[in-house]
Amino acid sequence: MDSGRSINLALSSRGIFALEKVGLMERVRKCMLPMRGRALHDSLGGITFQAYGQRDHEVIYSVARCQLNTLLLEAAEETGKVHVHFHHTCTRVDFCKRQLTFYDEVQGRSRCVVFTQVMGTDGSGSRIRKAILAQGGTQNVEKPLGHGYKELLIAPTSGGGFSLQSDALHIWPRGEFMQIALPNLDGSFTATLFMPQQGEQSFQAIDTETKLQQFYGEHFRDSLDLMPDLAQDYFNNPTGNLMTVKCVPWHYQDQALILGDAAHAIVPFHGQGMNCGFEDCVALVDCLEKAASWDEGFQSFEALRKPNTDAIADLALANYVEMRSQVRDRDFHLKKQIAFYLESLYPDFFIPQYSMVMFHQTPYYWAQQIGEIQERILDLWVDVL
Ligand SMILES: Cc1cc2nc3c(=O)[nH]c(=O)nc-3n(C[C@H](O)[C@H](O)[C@H](O)COP(=O)(O)OP(=O)(O)OC[C@H]3O[C@@H](n4cnc5c(N)ncnc54)[C@H](O)[C@@H]3O)c2cc1C
Repeated sequence: MDSGRSINLALSSRGIFALEKVGLMERVRKCMLPMRGRALHDSLGGITFQAYGQRDHEVIYSVARCQLNTLLLEAAEETGKVHVHFHHTCTRVDFCKRQLTFYDEVQGRSRCVVFTQVMGTDGSGSRIRKAILAQGGTQNVEKPLGHGYKELLIAPTSGGGFSLQSDALHIWPRGEFMQIALPNLDGSFTATLFMPQQGEQSFQAIDTETKLQQFYGEHFRDSLDLMPDLAQDYFNNPTGNLMTVKCVPWHYQDQALILGDAAHAIVPFHGQGMNCGFEDCVALVDCLEKAASWDEGFQSFEALRKPNTDAIADLALANYVEMRSQVRDRDFHLKKQIAFYLESLYPDFFIPQYSMVMFHQTPYYWAQQIGEIQERILDLWVDVL
């Protein structure tokens, strides 16, 4: 496990659909907890619950990253077609020789491997992406958010139960920064503090235990008592960076393709990075099955997915502002109520944007476009009311 990566993730319909397709959902179900909505904590300790959807199945799930990773690796190996090599870092890609160089961290030496096709799923810092773009990239954006994140623990009660409502994603929205918390199966919550890297209220500025206690006392008073190891976690856990990656192309001839974060890393505020990566897998299989060649399959995959991954990248950035700030506005809650009302009146014509992303498989691009129209409609209603 990478230290400093999120301990739990929100799994929703796109990820569930992909996991069902490969017959793994029953196994995943054992390591997930439902979250029915947002529990919003105000500065005075008040909590407001806001449901994500209005039907029983409209929930998202907190799933342990480590358990999910282990389960997927084991399932891949069980096919007998996959060999997993840990501690091997790809250091070089040679398209002329169709050869990859790996550094074996255990043996302390490099070795070369000849390939027919490479699927680069090596995350936001992808080596394969760099090699593809070096062959003539026309878009290569790696945009840091300027805000980082730190993982902290909210302990279970002394009896091993949850110290906060367990079927909710908790948010402490504070304008420029926020804390969130997702439940774990052992009764704890993994809290994540998102905050600017630099500035008056930033990871750089909060650099002593006294400042940390003051900061939590002022902004997250109700969570302070639930975090006995706050200072230890804050000063020992790494501060993660967040960025958006947009690039073109995603493939090189019939030789290499990138997918997942390697092709389109996004900020985590819509809980979609992993879900989108799983959706990539379903789309890729489909494109390859229909294509006459690898090259054609890669091309159609990129053409299909690129507008959608650009859209979810933008929606995820917008959701940061929503989560840390807009959720505190009266109009925001009013719009949610009106959107639910319209959905109940016209279920085939009005699906709130959040629901399209989380509970349906509406292509992200369409969710973005339709969402913009919905926003104008909801603004009109709010003006009238
Ligand atoms: C704080 C945070 C919270 C998140 N929450 C959610 C959430 O709630 N829901 C959600 O859907 N998504 C979430 N995400 C996003 C999600 O974690 C990513 O989108 C997902 O992990 C991407 O999967 P991937 O396989 O493409 O890349 P990764 O998970 O980054 O995996 C890449 C793998 O490649 C390996 N690798 C890297 N470079 C090399 C190399 N040179 N050679 C060999 N191997 C290499 C890495 O070790 C790693 O194992 C969150 C992300 C963060 C940071």
